[in-house]
Formats: sequence, C-alpha cells, structure tokens
Amino acid sequence: MIITKKRDFQELMENIKNYKSFFLIGCSECAALCGTGGEPEIKTMTEALEAAGKEVTGAFVAKTGCQVLGTKVELKPFNMAIDKAECILVMSCGAGTQAAVEIFEDKPVYPVNDSMFLGNMTRFQMFDERCSLCGKCILDKTGGICPITACPKGLLNGPCGGCKDGYCEISPDIKCAWVRIYERLKKLDRLDDMSEALPAKDWSHSQKPRNLYAKEKEGAKK
Ligand code: SF4
Ligand code: SF4
Repeated sequence: MIITKKRDFQELMENIKNYKSFFLIGCSECAALCGTGGEPEIKTMTEALEAAGKEVTGAFVAKTGCQVLGTKVELKPFNMAIDKAECILVMSCGAGTQAAVEIFEDKPVYPVNDSMFLGNMTRFQMFDERCSLCGKCILDKTGGICPITACPKGLLNGPCGGCKDGYCEISPDIKCAWVRIYERLKKLDRLDDMSEALPAKDWSHSQKPRNLYAKEKEGAKK
C-alpha cells in the first residue's frame, strides 16, 4: 500500500489562502488505512476548514482514488457541490491527487497528504517501507527481503563493513538487511542462494515516467 501522512495544516492553509470554498475527496483504500483519507479524516478536515472560515460544499470518499475513470463516474452525483467549490482538496496519495487533476481540468487541486513510500502495515497504524519499485524484483534471490529498500545504502551484496553485531551503522535501530537475508536463507536451508554475487542492477527498469499497458502485461505472461 502507499503510505501517506497528513501535511501540516498551516502549510495547507497557506497554499489555499486564495480560495473560500472546497470539495474534499478521500480514498477508501490506502489513505483510509493510513488514517489520512477515510470518512473520519474527511469529517475532521471539514470541521477544521469551517473553523478557519472556509466553506466545504461537499465531500466524498472514492473507492480507489487513483482509479481515474472509476472516480470520475463515482463523482457524478456530486456535480452541484463540485461546481460550487472553488478548489478541490484531495486526501489520498499523490496519484489520487493527480487523478483529480485529470478529472478537474478547470479547477485547482491541492494535496492534503504527503506520499511517503510503498510499505506494509505491520501493526495498527504502524507502517514500514518494503519496496522501492525498482521495476525488476530480486526477492527470489534474497530470501524475500528487499535489500534495495531495507539496506539504507541499497547494497545488492552485503553486509558492508558498517555492520556491527548484526545492526546497521546508519542506525542502531535498524537490523542489517543482509544479516536478515542471511538468517532467513539459513532458516530455509537455502544459503546456496548467497553463493554468487548479485550482478549490478539494471536501473533502466525504473526510468521515469513509467507506464504499463494491458498488451505489455500479456506479453510478460508468455
Ligand atoms: S527488488 Fe525491487 S521490486 Fe522487489 S521488493 Fe525490492 S524494490 Fe521492490
Ligand atoms: S550495515 Fe547492512 S543494512 Fe547497513 S548499510 Fe551495511 S549492508 Fe546495508
């Protein structure tokens, strides 16, 4: 899931100081799980905006805010409230905000949240980064632990000389990713997977902007 956090409210107010009326869009997927874009957060934001003298003409939690066509259809019943608003505020990730930019060509759209990373909810409202979206996964070679993400240096072969007692020199709170990989492979009796150094990564797979269309996905299946 995409992990988001709320932006500073005063910063948001500064960004939207020239507008008086707003329509809010949340997202029932990642943002709702992160507590940044579900019904309770929409309600809290509505109250905060009204307390600051702004008008909220309406609000809606999209099923999947980054799904452009689906969100556009879902928003149809809210056309009047949207027309009355000078500005759209989006309480999802950056992709959701840009979906709204595509939908509302003639209205300013502002993000309420910062998008942080792709990760897992490991405990309630606790999120850890798991994937850096490199475009060519190597989890099959690393016991299912991503060194590109879990190692602060993104080392493809480790551990480095900064590993002390199994922890990373960057922070005593971070267990060395390569120690974790070693321990997991050992447990699975797959240490042979570490016998060969991983080759230098082909970063062309993460060249931006990326896109993926159905035809290409079909090709990958063959
Ligand atoms: S190897 Fe790449 S795709 Fe796989 S988890 Fe790590 S960053 Fe993500
Ligand atoms: S100690 Fe381990 S996790 Fe830290 S930078 Fe070195 S290899 Fe990466």
